[in-house]
Amino acid sequence: MKLFVANWKMHKTHAEAQAYAAELGARIGNGIAGRELVLAPAFTALEEARDARGRWSLACQNVAAELAGPFTGEVSAAMAADAGCRYAIVGHSERRRYFGEDAAMLARKLACCRAAGLTPIYCLGETADERDAGLTEATLVRQAETLAKDPVDRPLVVAYEPIWAIGTGRAATPADAETARVQLAGVLSARRQLRILYGGSVTPENAAALLSGSAVDGFLIGGASLIAAGFEAIARA
Ligand code: PEP
Repeated sequence: MKLFVANWKMHKTHAEAQAYAAELGARIGNGIAGRELVLAPAFTALEEARDARGRWSLACQNVAAELAGPFTGEVSAAMAADAGCRYAIVGHSERRRYFGEDAAMLARKLACCRAAGLTPIYCLGETADERDAGLTEATLVRQAETLAKDPVDRPLVVAYEPIWAIGTGRAATPADAETARVQLAGVLSARRQLRILYGGSVTPENAAALLSGSAVDGFLIGGASLIAAGFEAIARA
């Protein structure tokens, strides 16, 4: 089953999330065969984004690196699970870059997800400079090391998101996505339930080519997922 995750980032009020969920529900009817859909709203819109009929599930975009305690402003993995999340995005490049999340912190976040029963969607990917220097594979291998203590028998989603492709309108080619997928599958070959997504400027226009030209298990989608019709079109590609 291909997996499509809509990362809304810091967008959508209650009313907007509600309208989106209503429109997506109307568009997909009983669901899209062979497609698993996930919405990743801000914490404040989780309730509005939930589908009572279970045609999509929820992810949070971040979790705290601690289980509970005096960490003002943080939301724990257990709280996210309690609010209806099944998945948690961990290690998105925006969090690594703007919030200084490093490998040690991300490893703790992964452990917190497991303790709460959340399936991590672990993001990794190279910068343009790393790519130009021929360091793409080395970067993926290094970032995958953060998963070293994550139990191999638990379901895991890894999202290959080259940083130069996120929000730039310049998606990776299907061949690039496939090369990274093969590398990640090799590095993570001990994993028993692994799905590898591609993310970075996926649109309704390029989704079919990316899916047919690579063996990725689906997409993590930012900008194009903010409109229900766009997310639906990508999931139907
Ligand atoms: C993302 O932020 O995970 C992402 C893939 O964004 P976009 O689709 O806008 O490039």
